[in-house]
Amino acid sequence: ENSSGMALWDESELGRLGEVFARHTGDGWTAGPDGERQPIVNPSDTRDIVGQCANFTVDQVSDAVARASACGWKDTSVEERAAVLERAADLIEAETPALMALAMREAGKTAANAVGEVREAVDFLRYYAVQAREVLTDGHAPVGPVAAISPWNFPLAIFIGQASAALVAGNTVLAKPAEETPLIAAEAVRLLHEAGVPDDALILVTGAGDVGAALVADERVQGVVFTGSTEVAQLIQAELSKRVSPDGRPIPLIAETGGQNAMVVDSSALTEQVVRDVVASAFDSAGQRCSALRLLCLQDDVYDTTMEMLRGALAELDIGPSTRLCCDVGPVISTEARETIEAHIANMEAAGCRVERGALAEKAAHGTYVAPTVIELDHIGQLGREVFGPVLHVVRWKRGGLDALIESINALGYGLTFGVHSRIDDFVARCADRIEVGNIYVNRNMIGAVVGVQPFGGCGLSGTGPKAGGPLYLGRLVSGEDTVRRVPGMP
Ligand code: NAD
Repeated sequence: ENSSGMALWDESELGRLGEVFARHTGDGWTAGPDGERQPIVNPSDTRDIVGQCANFTVDQVSDAVARASACGWKDTSVEERAAVLERAADLIEAETPALMALAMREAGKTAANAVGEVREAVDFLRYYAVQAREVLTDGHAPVGPVAAISPWNFPLAIFIGQASAALVAGNTVLAKPAEETPLIAAEAVRLLHEAGVPDDALILVTGAGDVGAALVADERVQGVVFTGSTEVAQLIQAELSKRVSPDGRPIPLIAETGGQNAMVVDSSALTEQVVRDVVASAFDSAGQRCSALRLLCLQDDVYDTTMEMLRGALAELDIGPSTRLCCDVGPVISTEARETIEAHIANMEAAGCRVERGALAEKAAHGTYVAPTVIELDHIGQLGREVFGPVLHVVRWKRGGLDALIESINALGYGLTFGVHSRIDDFVARCADRIEVGNIYVNRNMIGAVVGVQPFGGCGLSGTGPKAGGPLYLGRLVSGEDTVRRVPGMP
């Protein structure tokens, strides 16, 4: 509803989206093979059943790997594969309303986040098609069947990005979406098949972490692309280190994982702009972005004024279901996620930190909402591992302390994103020179990366590289050279 109480979400008025909702109510959507199915519940306060999903059994995983191993996809030409990706981009773009509906109902995305998600998926398909023509030749050898394991927070864009890069390089793909968001992945696979990817070249393998682990442990799988938590990436790395490919090479793992992303603000920064960018960076997508701001470092001189303005902005954030088009912050993905986040906030409060929370609207009471929260720390050492939700930590730093500050951010061990707000070029340059991260955001929010223009990915505990939306990976030239090559003009 908008402020006058008028319903903004009218299925008949929203045209295609309404049709999609009408076609797929209750258990209209399904993913995975026949057999026992689990309901997928909308995390918003409607708590409606979005669809059903099956867990692959060990035998079903093994059959899927056998099919992917026998498929002759690598014998197609680079041009053919690139053209298939471009057809898939057109089909996905045409299905934007259906895919938005799924992102909103299955993952609790706001309408703005959902449309961005579809846009990014389309960009990945078109970008990897262009990349393939640029860097691959028909003599290029793929690594073999690849397991692509993805998270729920970008259930379409990351799922498609992983699969399309591997496919266009001639690999067959066993795509394992997160157990929270299999339905949008099933729709994506259906559209990729319709575009011309053979059924056995891209197989959707649904289920929880044990299904992902079974794929990783299967010795016919010759590469793993993973986006998710640092902890799971470490388990996968340990498993893969136990075996080598038939020609004696290590099994490649490309991992994009979590972050403890900081923003450093000095006293020359424009406070209004800082607060606007901090709110977006920390609370957009309910903080469920790997790139989200977790640690705001304010210079002593501007600490109090910035905090005062930030508290005011926090109180104004509109929290609620994604079906209310004006909402700023939707639900977190699940009851368990909410409990983990709330436990962290309670622990920090018990440890003596000052905690400020945004208002949680009454109508948001039944969904898995978490009020956006700001926690003031005494020192960076109080920050533990990544907490994946709308929680921002703030520390104070004193004049002359920049180098020590950056050192303590690097010492956290993550290296995904970093923001700096300053009007002084030398200050920005000093931060950028010393910080060890994949992506740096200067005088702006820390949201997003344009596919092909700003390749995205981190180092340290945040990932292995190469970056998503950057040069192609997962293949070898026949000469044995790595196919990772820079595209002219790319950063
Ligand atoms: P997660 O690690 O719990 O799960 C990711 C995927 O791994 C899921 O499909 C899950 O089923 C599977 N999985 C779980 N255990 C497994 C195992 N033992 N073996 C194989 N697969 C297993 O992560 P999540 O909660 O889905 O996603 C949130 C995390 O993803 C956050 O840490 C976030 O920072 C990270 N992330 C990183 C990026 C990036 O580009 N760096 C992007 C998005 C999300």
